[in-house]
Amino acid sequence: MEGLFPQKTTGFVRVAVDRGLDRYPDGLTYALDEELADVTIGEEVMVPLGRGNTPTPGYVVLKTPQSETDGPVKHVLSRTKTPALPEGLIELARWISSYYLAPLGPTISSMLPAPVRRRTGSVTQRMIDLANVSPEQTKSPTKKQKTVLEVLQALPSEARPVERRKLMQLADLQTPGPIDRLVKNGMLEETRQTAIEAAWRMAGVQKMDRPTPTEAQQRVIDGIAAELANGFSTHLIRGVTGAGKTEVYLQLIEQVVTLNRIALVLVPEISLTPQTGARLTGRFPDHRVALLHSGLTAAQRHQQWSQVANDEVDIILGARSAVLSPLNRNRLGLIVVDEEHDHSYKQDSMPRYHGRDVAIRLGQMTPCPVVLGSATPSLESWANATEKGVFHLHDLPERAPGLILPKVRIVDMAKDRHREGAATWSALGPTLEQALGETLDAGGQALLLLNRRGFASYLTCRNKACDWMLTCDDCDVSMVMHRQHDLPRGGFVRCHHCLSEQRVPRSCPACGQGITAMGQRTQRIEEILSRRFPSLVANETLRRIDSDTMRTADDLHQVLEAFGEGEVRVLLGTQMIAKGLDYPGVRLVGVLDADTSIHLPDFRASERTFQLVAQVCGRCGRGEAPGRAIIQTYNPEMPAIECAASGQYRQFAAAELDDRRACGLPPISRMARLVIQDQNLHRCEAQAQAIKEQLAASSDGEVDVRGPSDCVIGRIAQRYRKQIELLAASPGPLHAALLKARASGVLDGSQRVTLDIDPMSLM
Ligand code: ADP
Ligand code: ZN
Ligand code: ZN
Repeated sequence: MEGLFPQKTTGFVRVAVDRGLDRYPDGLTYALDEELADVTIGEEVMVPLGRGNTPTPGYVVLKTPQSETDGPVKHVLSRTKTPALPEGLIELARWISSYYLAPLGPTISSMLPAPVRRRTGSVTQRMIDLANVSPEQTKSPTKKQKTVLEVLQALPSEARPVERRKLMQLADLQTPGPIDRLVKNGMLEETRQTAIEAAWRMAGVQKMDRPTPTEAQQRVIDGIAAELANGFSTHLIRGVTGAGKTEVYLQLIEQVVTLNRIALVLVPEISLTPQTGARLTGRFPDHRVALLHSGLTAAQRHQQWSQVANDEVDIILGARSAVLSPLNRNRLGLIVVDEEHDHSYKQDSMPRYHGRDVAIRLGQMTPCPVVLGSATPSLESWANATEKGVFHLHDLPERAPGLILPKVRIVDMAKDRHREGAATWSALGPTLEQALGETLDAGGQALLLLNRRGFASYLTCRNKACDWMLTCDDCDVSMVMHRQHDLPRGGFVRCHHCLSEQRVPRSCPACGQGITAMGQRTQRIEEILSRRFPSLVANETLRRIDSDTMRTADDLHQVLEAFGEGEVRVLLGTQMIAKGLDYPGVRLVGVLDADTSIHLPDFRASERTFQLVAQVCGRCGRGEAPGRAIIQTYNPEMPAIECAASGQYRQFAAAELDDRRACGLPPISRMARLVIQDQNLHRCEAQAQAIKEQLAASSDGEVDVRGPSDCVIGRIAQRYRKQIELLAASPGPLHAALLKARASGVLDGSQRVTLDIDPMSLM
């Protein structure tokens, strides 16, 4: 604790401590002792916090010669061993913290992946080099020692120092003894350095050819390339699925890395990364590509992150958090956000940032161009590119050469069911079943999408007069049945929100009659498929992809590889399969139920439905033969489904924007959302009411404060949930109202109140 007893003060720093201290959103001021004078912005230090002066870690966010506060100032205790973050990243963190109203300390510390903080995979390497000794000082070496010296002397200077173990190999030694003795008598020099063990390369890198761009692609490439040297600009490439957007990115990246600059490429989820990763490494075999995503082992993540931090890479590919990687901003030349509409860009824990929007901010700070791409752009980006005119819009209206858009057919499930009879009807549906049979007979592959995992949606009583349904004890939702054949009654039930599990009851607890499972989910469809198509064997030619079966990125990569090789004939899965997969053998795409999100009380329900249906339809017709898509719905006339099936994005977007305008919803307005949670319902209601009143009082009429109301799921894990929504024409008044409310203390920063700026999910 020597830092508490000051020596000579040489300056001051502002430190953002790793606590949710909303009272000091920008950090606290501390004095620096002489021995810490060289502490830099982005370093982690220990500081005394609170009345007890508890040593607490925090990041230096500002350095000043003068104290910014009057009165006594505590002193920084020490620096930690955590790797420092570049100053540019701290600047970005400050923006995230102020825009998303998240405390700065936790925002910064969330930028440091856990494996980096824990230094997973670090090893100390002993590096050996020739010592600077004059010939008269040399002792006569043994034969083995002589070999060691000769090996070292023969190496070019840039290959030295050599790791001790490697030197043993080079000198053909069984033991390090000769090297150690040479170090001891001063003929060799030993230094130690830390390295990360998992030296790792993408497997199976193949050099890939570069196709000649089509005229449309060339126009987009030229249009964006013209801006590469002009600082910040934002571009939206709207292209049908398979239009060759990725090819446009690749050619732009090529121009950027040729200038020795860095390209940062964001993709929504790991499932996209194997293919995009292979394309990047294949096209740029002479450049260094870092992959940053959660599918890596801890040591690999540490290694990749450190390579980025050491400015050793030219291309960075990763999911959302890659936008927070410690890259050298001076070399950053281009940011690409692929599938910019994807909801996984929004982080659902603090700080609740949107990867695309942070990318745009990073492009502005750098400055460099930002390219967004999608076949189904978010209405936010679409409005920016059209009516607001702040993005450049680039169109790729046709599929890449050789690719044909699939024939899409909408199937009205109500009619299908009526024709078939409810008793024998299954969610597979007769039209889709027939098409699947034809596809398999013709040697094609199929993707079947059902965005519901598990076996059955709910368990209910057979007795029509009884309304019992199995719900979670702790949440206001029904429990989902999962198949497990070795259990009594063939499975168990699980709550998808609190993850609690129970046995399947023998009979209805209310009336004693039998139980029936309703609502077919992926496991059920898997069973139906294997029964109806003997060639489909579960876990072999038929694979189910959902978060129950795909626990790691490796699981997924293996299945996708088997699918790519044709071994797997049918992939059945949740939205994991709707995104970006590009396999030429797919002849049929089936959407078993296009309505899974259409009735959610979320103003983006129809946008989401449109995106899901349009994206999954784009997964076929990528090979030579044309493909077809079959979409089952109870709402065949809904614009979201009709437009998605007919590929009419512009019509859908125009109508949807009109609806949003009429209701004053994003992207016409800006939204913030508060969720208040408490085990005690009265306390929950009272706090929500108090927050609402405070917000209404501090909003000067420019903010529409709606609520409090019950969340869609009114209770999760025993905690009641109330929501308040704020809408305003621009973010300014929203921030002002929220800051005032925060200053007044009603938003006490506790776990009970969560604040989401630009929320994507309203559950
Ligand atoms: P998107 O990203 O829009 O879905 P991709 O860039 O992945 O489209 O292109 C779809 C397929 O078409 C890929 O297999 C790609 O290699 C191929 N492709 C793209 N552009 C061309 C081109 N100009 N000539 C030939 N093939 C192309
Ligand atoms: Zn639950
Ligand atoms: Zn009953």
